[in-house]
Amino acid sequence: MNVSIDRANCTSCGTCWDACPAFFEENPDDAFSQVMEKFRLNGDIGKGTAPEDLEACVTDAADSCPVSIITVEES
Ligand code: SF4
Repeated sequence: MNVSIDRANCTSCGTCWDACPAFFEENPDDAFSQVMEKFRLNGDIGKGTAPEDLEACVTDAADSCPVSIITVEES
């Protein structure tokens, strides 16, 4: 599953990394959400590939984002 975060519009609310801490984390510099390093796509902190066992929580995080900036699509 491919995941993308529109980081420019992140409000740093923390919902995604609370819902799915194995995949999302807070960037220490700008405080916005980013993909954990091991799941990043081409080193892009705003894009990643979720393994099957994390698809449910990543989808949960995307559905719970108050500004709907996490996009998921089947790969
Ligand atoms: S849930 Fe959305 S707005 Fe909140 S930290 Fe995550 S990406 Fe940013």
